[in-house]
Amino acid sequence: MRTFNVGILGATGAVGQKFIHLLQGHPWFHIAQLGASERSAGKRYGDTVTWIEPVDLPDAIANQTIQSCRPEVMNEVDFVFSGLDSGVATEIEQSFAEAGIPVISNAKNYRQHDSVPLLVPEVNADHIGLIAQQKFTDDHSGFIVTNPNCVCIPLSMALAPLHRRYGIASVVMTTLQAISGGGYPGVPGMDITANIMPYIDGEEPKIGLEPLKILGELKNGTVQFADFPVEATATRVPTVEGHLLSVTVSFEEKPASADEAKKVIRDWQSPLEDLDLPSAPKQPLRLYENPRFPQPRLHSYQEGGMQVSVGRVREAEVMDLSMMVLGHNTVRGAAGCSILNAELLARKGYFS
Ligand code: NAP
Repeated sequence: MRTFNVGILGATGAVGQKFIHLLQGHPWFHIAQLGASERSAGKRYGDTVTWIEPVDLPDAIANQTIQSCRPEVMNEVDFVFSGLDSGVATEIEQSFAEAGIPVISNAKNYRQHDSVPLLVPEVNADHIGLIAQQKFTDDHSGFIVTNPNCVCIPLSMALAPLHRRYGIASVVMTTLQAISGGGYPGVPGMDITANIMPYIDGEEPKIGLEPLKILGELKNGTVQFADFPVEATATRVPTVEGHLLSVTVSFEEKPASADEAKKVIRDWQSPLEDLDLPSAPKQPLRLYENPRFPQPRLHSYQEGGMQVSVGRVREAEVMDLSMMVLGHNTVRGAAGCSILNAELLARKGYFS
């Protein structure tokens, strides 16, 4: 695999910093340019960022000058990762795609566009076929690929094997989402210290919709969405990293037992195994039998934060099956998933 020069849009934010952290020493991707708002542009990165990653800021990154997020300025790259604020992502991401620079985005803005893949490579890698229908450039050199919301990624990974085997009829769930999911500085300390916020603005509609596209089938160039309701309650809890989800599912065909459903989860094989992608976890989905597991502090970081944990799989009194699902929100749920998306696209020859 050749190496690619990459840019990071929103490089000063929580997700942007996670990109910088995860891309250190990456065998294919080299960070060439960093972009942020006009407030930050022209300044030295190390003097501007409030660094929140638990590793030292590399000197080579600290000494870079932050650029404006404009394709004519950030033109030394093969593609860009986007951790842009959703208030500005629509126009900026479009401008890069129109300039022939692919955008691998975390923002929500293009997730529901018909021709934009909402990608979790272990679940719906074939959805990259949608890119051929994007019209940002005549030669398809510029395109946008998104990754789902930080809850929807672990949720879809846990549901995928069960949906394929039994067909999901409905989902009722409550999230316990970590503070870092709100970006930096995020939720005020007065709200979250020794407390739980019973509402996250804008979160529940995304959880109701995104899994249906991810678990949908690509047929004749369009994604036919999965068809089941998701009733979600999203809460913010005083953990730092790792979103824990309490999920109850009813199926079209009920599993014979919780043990049978566990076997379906345990036996699920990643379709990426033969592609040798650097960020792909060896075991994307791990099933725990210990009823005290999974816990955000103990299990969010497995396989570099790319593994999703499932536990407490049990027959439900109401509906069919209940379980707890855990995923690292800024790695698996954001920057790490984007990097895996880009690795898949690089392997498939999408970056010229
Ligand atoms: P954040 O910490 O608030 O960072 C936002 C970034 O956008 C900063 O780099 C900021 O630059 C930049 N920005 C703001 N206005 C801009 C403008 N007008 N032009 C160019 N850049 C601008 O947010 P975050 O938590 O990293 O989230 C970034 C995106 O990822 C959001 O769309 C979010 O919904 C999504 N996401 C976040 C998570 C998570 O767990 N945090 C998970 C999945 C997806 P300045 O520093 O210069 O203002």
